Amino acid sequence: MIKAIRGTRDLLPPDTDLWNRVEATVRDLFARYSFHEIRTPVFEDTQLFSRSVGEDTDIVSKEMFTWEDRARAGSGGASDAGLTSGSGFGGGSAPGAGFADGTGYGGGRGQSLTLRPENTAGVVRAYIEHQLDKVGKLQKLYYIGPQFRRERPQKGRYRQFYQIGAEIIGPSSAGSESPARDAEVLEMLATLLDELGLRGWTLQLNSVGCAADRARYNQALRDALKPVVATMCADCQRRAETNPLRVLDCKVPEDQPIIENLPKISEYLDDACRENFAQVRAMLDAVGVPYTINERMVRGLDYYTRTTFEFTHGDLGAQSAVLGGGRYDGLSESLDGPKAPGIGFAIGEDRLILALQAEGITADAPLDAYIAPLGEGMNPHALKLASELRRAGVRADLGDGTFRLKKSFEAAEKAGAKYIVIVGGNEVQSETFTVKELGTGKQELVARANLAEYLRRSH
Ligand code: ATP
Ligand code: MG
Repeated sequence: MIKAIRGTRDLLPPDTDLWNRVEATVRDLFARYSFHEIRTPVFEDTQLFSRSVGEDTDIVSKEMFTWEDRARAGSGGASDAGLTSGSGFGGGSAPGAGFADGTGYGGGRGQSLTLRPENTAGVVRAYIEHQLDKVGKLQKLYYIGPQFRRERPQKGRYRQFYQIGAEIIGPSSAGSESPARDAEVLEMLATLLDELGLRGWTLQLNSVGCAADRARYNQALRDALKPVVATMCADCQRRAETNPLRVLDCKVPEDQPIIENLPKISEYLDDACRENFAQVRAMLDAVGVPYTINERMVRGLDYYTRTTFEFTHGDLGAQSAVLGGGRYDGLSESLDGPKAPGIGFAIGEDRLILALQAEGITADAPLDAYIAPLGEGMNPHALKLASELRRAGVRADLGDGTFRLKKSFEAAEKAGAKYIVIVGGNEVQSETFTVKELGTGKQELVARANLAEYLRRSH
């Protein structure tokens, strides 16, 4: 039997009803905040991620699905390379195809491609490629789609998972740098979680400052780590050299006491960043969005500046972050684009669904009616009635005239219908239908003209 690949999963009803409810709520809310959808490709040039997310991050250093692609034209039966994170590819027997230089960037033949591990980099690439800065206004873009990371699968952590994200990005003259945008995004997220009915969330807030602050902070971390790093995990020893900020991401329990005592980022913010963060907090206070300052929350991607945040949920165990985001003022320039400050977030949709389910929230979309034809000859009449009702907004299931009445009742019960509507010769003739409420057994005769309204009363 062929099974779904480890770390991927099939989403099935009734869960998908909840996924759809979340996505419908999200689309409706984003429209009210004047966001518009963007859809970017599922795979991109590998460099897009190594240059934006950062070489030393977990995502780029160990979690990406990367492969060498090559022009297929005239490939002469050479086999494609599989998904490897290494370099080079097999085959190469095609006339003139040969090997690329092993990295896939040279030679014009091979190219290193990667399944997107996140979507902000793709959005910023599209912003640059389509010169969206020329529009002169803020771009408010959102996406919903699958992302891919080669992680150890566990509850709330998958190799194909889904993110719902949004970005506000644009030239500074359009107000993209304003702390008002940070506060607006955070208020929007709080409203979204409220509208979905989720209660047990906490907003963890921090500022990681600007590039200059972080350089000074990194140096302070390096100094503080020097005497103790030898006792820490191998990842921390490497990070302490290459990117000390990443030490704060460490999840190894034995390292935590050391990390607790490291210098705090707040002591290294310059006046402008300090003032910026104070303004964001003041606006959140004004609008009544509660938050907790968490100075260790530096986020696992290198491109963040100033405001960073996560919303966590108490019922998710080790994978407690439902969403994460922050400001990324230098990201566009690092991808050779124009200056385009921005702020965004990504909701882990899989984890959001788990959190909703943990709070007992389901998508309520009960079936209004089961239409039961009495005898095969009644099938066309039943179809016609079902068509009328469905066009009038009734959620209806249609039975089969070969079913005996008892079987129709059982089928209606199984389908979760509120009412069963019997379609026999007399009913069609008299334009009046017997409607039975399955829960109570209550039965009524309803005229065809009133039937849709009668059945829709349940919602
Ligand atoms: P974590 O610390 O849990 O690994 P992260 O910092 O790597 O999260 P981000 O890159 O910030 O995650 O992505 C934003 C959100 O996407 C996370 O808060 C989480 O809800 C979700 N997410 C990230 N990785 C996965 C995954 N492998 N499976 C399911 N959801 C994920
Ligand atoms: Mg991660």
